[in-house]
Amino acid sequence: MSDNLQYTAEPINRLIQELNKLPGIGPKSAQRLAYYLLRTPEENARILSDAILSVKRQITLCSSCFNVTDSDPCRICSSAERDRSQICIVEQPQDILALEHTRAYKGLYHVLHGAISPTEGVGTGDIRVKELLERLRENKVGEVIMATNTNLEGEQTALYLNHLISGMGIRVTRLARGLPFGTELEYADDVTLTRAIEGRQEL
Ligand SMILES: [Zn+2]
Repeated sequence: MSDNLQYTAEPINRLIQELNKLPGIGPKSAQRLAYYLLRTPEENARILSDAILSVKRQITLCSSCFNVTDSDPCRICSSAERDRSQICIVEQPQDILALEHTRAYKGLYHVLHGAISPTEGVGTGDIRVKELLERLRENKVGEVIMATNTNLEGEQTALYLNHLISGMGIRVTRLARGLPFGTELEYADDVTLTRAIEGRQEL
């Protein structure tokens, strides 16, 4: 190793290595975090390690929408304030966090836990499609909103689900795809610009 880790205390090395495994944390950030944790009071370190263990021990998937939750059904599915006639389909639980942050949506969700990707060997049986169809059959749902990612896998998944759901008498919509805020037109790619024109709304 370039940083001569053999001269560093073993517990510190171990912490750096573990932190380095986290997404978005490179070797330098891992070192910085490790030395920060070394300086922090023991109580704070305990709170952090408890928080990590708690998500592993207490978090399960909601049996209705498959969001991560500490109670089943989850807080959204069991809320009386949510519109049960709308189901928004997302790829990952963290997508719900992003949508909830906007406060623009008051319906329910369904987390697929992935997207169809033939190149990566992810088929329709690997994501929560069967459970979605069961849900749509057993509940009165008026609209399904496709909020899968706007990449190839997300588009394929939305098209596939649309194909399955369209015969069920349920309205299927897709999140409007437009220009990201702050974009200058001349720098927008063709796909984005085409969709922005197609998805235009009354001003
Ligand atoms: Zn739920």
